[in-house]
Amino acid sequence: MGHPLDAVPESGIARIRDLMLAIDRPFRLDQGDVSFDVPDAVKEAIRRAVAENRTHYLPTLGLPPLRERLMEKVRTRNELPVRGVDEVFVTAGGMHGLFITCQALLNAGDEVIVPDPEWPPVVGNVTAAQGVAVPCPLHERLGWRYNLDELEGRITRRTRAIYVNSPHNPTGSILRRADLERIAEIASRHDLRLIADEAYEDIVYDSAEHVSLGSLPGLHERTISLFTFSKSFAMTGLRLGYVVVRDPELRRRMAKVLYYSSSNVSSLVQHAGVGALEAGAEVIRGFRDELAARRDLFFSGIDQLGGHVLKGTPPEGAFYAFLRIDDGWTAGAEDEEGSRCWRFAKHLITGAKIGSVPGAEFGANGAGYVRFCFARGREELDGALSALGRLLGS
Ligand code: PMP
Repeated sequence: MGHPLDAVPESGIARIRDLMLAIDRPFRLDQGDVSFDVPDAVKEAIRRAVAENRTHYLPTLGLPPLRERLMEKVRTRNELPVRGVDEVFVTAGGMHGLFITCQALLNAGDEVIVPDPEWPPVVGNVTAAQGVAVPCPLHERLGWRYNLDELEGRITRRTRAIYVNSPHNPTGSILRRADLERIAEIASRHDLRLIADEAYEDIVYDSAEHVSLGSLPGLHERTISLFTFSKSFAMTGLRLGYVVVRDPELRRRMAKVLYYSSSNVSSLVQHAGVGALEAGAEVIRGFRDELAARRDLFFSGIDQLGGHVLKGTPPEGAFYAFLRIDDGWTAGAEDEEGSRCWRFAKHLITGAKIGSVPGAEFGANGAGYVRFCFARGREELDGALSALGRLLGS
């Protein structure tokens, strides 16, 4: 007999990872991980927590001093009108925050409007909660933003929520304040929930501005705001995130999912979070400046070495290059298996040891594109660009 989890797609990104693991000295531009080490303050906080034997059970919703600091952070930095620590839940990363949100929010058959392309765990988590993900395209010609009339056209009587991710994975686009105001107006008129995924809130370049959806007037009440330490503090493997939500009914359900799935997030990791927040702005600024330099390095390399095959503009946020594969590219065409972007990604692996993610993995609208992560070290980026140039014959 079947089971609802049978409908959840397997990860194509994991398939690429497996191909990469078989390669000697690969260029890992496929994975969305930064190359930075965690800040010293994080290492020190973990060392201190171990020395002080902070290794026992904690309150399910999080270590009190961490929740206090997170409440202050979302009030000041994100301008969320949070009333108290009760609205802040500590999770094992942004992925876990998304999981408890979908479990607490969705009934079987509820629809969630998601961007296309999108970060695949969104469809995975909506489906795992027996919801239905309804894709709405982001358009390259609009800087990978929505046509918001089209978004409103996706609403049916089954729609429960709109998932919004800005800065966006995989395209790096940032929604304007006017976009968010219109989304707010649509959600209010149709009485929908909003899931605001702010994983890349700190990775914003040049004069671009990140606005938290829940900071718009009256919107915090209908918004579930998702955050993570992964990208801002290079803590991807430590697994720490948080969810901010007002609705008491949702909070009661989320607390149950948290309790029954993990009892509490690792005590050492929560102490690490306190250390990260104390180090704060300076660390984030340093990472962001370096990522901006890597973005420029990567895009000038692409222009010089692969510009006749790969096209796209530098993103305003996040750390991905989502590039269109020119129609003229045929080199991998002899491999009949899979879509064109899969063939291209496999060609890069076998011919140049470069990892990338085929755009179709992010949704139908991503077909014909490929995603590179430029948050890797400069040496790795330089090596990948030279290998790309040789492969594509620039
Ligand atoms: N949201 C988006 C859009 C992401 O790209 C990621 C990570 N790739 C996350 C959330 C969650 O990251 P983590 O689980 O490491 O906190």
